[in-house]
Amino acid sequence: MNATKRIVLIGPPGCGKGTQAKRIEDATGMVQLSTGDMLRAAVAAASPIGLKAKAVMEAGQLVSDDIIIGMVAERIKAPDCAKGFILDGFPRSIPQAEALSKMLADNKQPMNGAIEIRVPDQFIVERITGRFTCAKCGAGYHDKFQKPAKDGVCDKCGASDFSRRKDDNEETVRTRLSAYHEVTSPIVGFYDRAGILKVVDGTQGIDDVTKSIMKVLAEL
Ligand code: ADP
Ligand code: ADP
Ligand code: ZN
Repeated sequence: MNATKRIVLIGPPGCGKGTQAKRIEDATGMVQLSTGDMLRAAVAAASPIGLKAKAVMEAGQLVSDDIIIGMVAERIKAPDCAKGFILDGFPRSIPQAEALSKMLADNKQPMNGAIEIRVPDQFIVERITGRFTCAKCGAGYHDKFQKPAKDGVCDKCGASDFSRRKDDNEETVRTRLSAYHEVTSPIVGFYDRAGILKVVDGTQGIDDVTKSIMKVLAEL
């Protein structure tokens, strides 16, 4: 597959963006660009961006467009992005989508596709409250839907330390879902009008979602 594609994954918190982005990365060599991961690293490092973002993230609100756009503009200049990339969690507003189009046009690198992973709200609380990750390698798991093969041991790296995000609680999820519907979901129409929107059913099992996405990707 031509791996120098640039795509966006769109969907509510817990729809499977991170899970699928990692799988696409492993299968194609395209790089996963997760603004959530970048922000969590900034918070952990107590960098100026991290200090501004921490409370906003804990409350389940969106970090300001200026901060996010600046962070992504820097990141996509890095040499590894020449292999193509999967944007996971960005853009999350119309101004972010417009800024991204401008960045890519300036670099003469058009966006190849935007894939909406569609999951209705009633699935989301269970997805989010059951989520955990390996503290060592970042592999993602779920209490019910994606358990490690051996209880308490990471399939990927064998570590036995896991972590849960502070914002993955029911109350914050409701705020994040409102932000998704009010501020983020208009970007679905934005990419539809641009003629590059594809929709996959995110209520399927994890492997079937991957198959649907790989099929879409092959056609872009
Ligand atoms: P996002 O990055 O969109 O917030 P994640 O990829 O982290 O979502 O997935 C949220 C949680 O749901 C994780 O615990 C993951 O293991 C689980 N999950 C992801 N995709 C599915 C799926 N298709 N069916 C059931 N559980 C899923
Ligand atoms: P999710 O699993 O809910 O999709 P992420 O890991 O993508 O979560 O993002 C976690 C938090 O980081 C968001 O709730 C938000 O506060 C902030 N964030 C991440 N990406 C963006 C963005 N593109 N714009 C604004 N805020 C963002
Ligand atoms: Zn691990």
